[in-house]
Formats: sequence, C-alpha cells, structure tokens
Amino acid sequence: VNSAGPSTPLLFAAIEAGGTKFVCAVGNSAGEILAEERIPTTDVATTFENVFGYFHATQARLGGVSSVGLASFGPLDLDSESERYGTLLKTPKAGWADLDLRGLVAHEFRTPIGFDTDVNAAALGEARWGKGRDVASLAYVTVGTGIGGGFAINGLSLQGMTHSEIGHIHVRRHPKDEAFEGVCAFHGDCLEGLASGTAIRARFGHSLDELPADHQAWEIEADYLGQLCAQLVATVAPHRILIGGGVMSRLSLFPAIRLRMLHWLGGYCQIPRVHQEDYVSAPGLGTHSGIKGALVLAIQARAIWTRAGAG
Ligand code: ZN
Repeated sequence: VNSAGPSTPLLFAAIEAGGTKFVCAVGNSAGEILAEERIPTTDVATTFENVFGYFHATQARLGGVSSVGLASFGPLDLDSESERYGTLLKTPKAGWADLDLRGLVAHEFRTPIGFDTDVNAAALGEARWGKGRDVASLAYVTVGTGIGGGFAINGLSLQGMTHSEIGHIHVRRHPKDEAFEGVCAFHGDCLEGLASGTAIRARFGHSLDELPADHQAWEIEADYLGQLCAQLVATVAPHRILIGGGVMSRLSLFPAIRLRMLHWLGGYCQIPRVHQEDYVSAPGLGTHSGIKGALVLAIQARAIWTRAGAG
C-alpha cells in the first residue's frame, strides 16, 4: 500500500500475463506507463521470481503501488464465488494448468487486485484511453496464434457464467476452403481452427503477412472475420469492434472484413451511418491495449476497495 503523502499521485501495478511473455508495468490514473518490462514466460517459479523481482526494484525506485491489475491468458475461473476463483484452468501450457494465479499475485502484493482475461482488459484499456473513448460499448478481438475476444460495456468488462470464448464459434466454410480440417484441439474447424495465425500457417505454410496481396488466403481470412463481426453485431451489438493481434498487421484487411460483415448481416441489424467507417477498426493503443487494460483493472480494484470503506 502506498505510503507516500496524500498529494502524491497514486501508482498502480499492471501485469499482462501471456503464454510467451509477461508484460509488467507501473502507471498512473491518467494511463501513463512510467516503467515497463517484458519477461519471458518459462516455468512458473522462474517467471514469477522475475516478475516480482521487477516490481520490487521498480517500487523501490518510483514508490509503492496502491493496487494491482492482473490480465491473463486463459481459460480462467472469474467467478468470485468459486473456490477456484483466480485459477488458470485447462491451459495446454505445461505446468501452468490449475495454477492459482491471482493467489500468487495477492500473496506478493497484499493490495487490492483486479483480475480479468487479457482480452477483457484490452477492451477496458481501449474504452478508457484508446479507440473506444467516444462509444459506450466495444468488443476487442485478438487474432494471433489463437483468437479471443472481450467486451467493455459502460466502462466495465462483460463477465457472465465465465468469460467469452468468442474465438470458438462455428463459421460457414468459405467455398475455397473446403479441404482444410482446422487446427482447434477441441473443435477442429471452429473460427480459431480456421482463421487463427496457427491455422493460416498450417494451411498455407506461411503467415498471412508473407503471402501476396492477391493470394486467396486474404479473401478467406476476411470472410471468416467478417462472419465473426456479423455474429458480434447479432449477439452483443457493440458500438465498435476492434481487432488486434499478429495476423492483423495489414490495414487493408479491415475494409475487406467490413464488407464481408455487411454481406453476412444481409441488410439486417443496420449499423448507424456515423459509426460505419470505423465500425471495425484497429486498436487505438497499438500493442499496449492489454497492459493499459491491466492498469484499468488496478484502478478499478482500488476504487472498489475505497468505496467498501477500507480506505
Ligand atoms: Zn475451437
């Protein structure tokens, strides 16, 4: 807990836990990142030794943090009533399944902790400081080695029985993509099985970026992501859809996705004219949506703790 005087701006710790790296940062309530470090994800003990060592050194330099935001890859138990709340569930990452992620961080920091999926956090970060500032709700989708999605609605993330698994919806096959089996370990040809970076590489032997602009991979990818957007419009109806992740490096993909989304909507579920141009967009915070989202989780956790009368 921050031991500085009352006039000192509060500091917050942000952790974006990923399968290949942990992004760790200290920031303030204006969304400024004051220190940041990327730590490779190896075994649990080494990774957390490095993460906590980083925060120990950074707090000695900048001052203590008031709360922590932990945004993680999943699947996660987000049900605060559950005995396993805060646990990383059936991840294929060796040694990480059934890990009490939130408990580990809570034990180290002993401050309020905000906890959510990486993509819900990214949606919160974009809603507060990025390309969602002018709308009340948004969906954030990442298309990388897998496909995940989160939602921010009036400044809060959407958590139901569990978190969204929008990457695993089933899409209609593109006519030029009837032979490929798909790569999802659970469903084969779900959206992630057909349109993730892993799927593109398995099918074409290259990443999307490495294929020429007139290669059919682009048309197929735009169609599948257009179907995803149409499904999002038909279910949650967010005011905007942001798509980030390694597969989305070329901006030319966005207009193509918008066109396919409109095709699949078939004239139903009209999108207001003012929102049409940027309805499906790249994130405003670039690669920082997730870590800034973790910062929002920390700020929200501190606010809840203060309102509860503990402060
Ligand atoms: Zn799947």
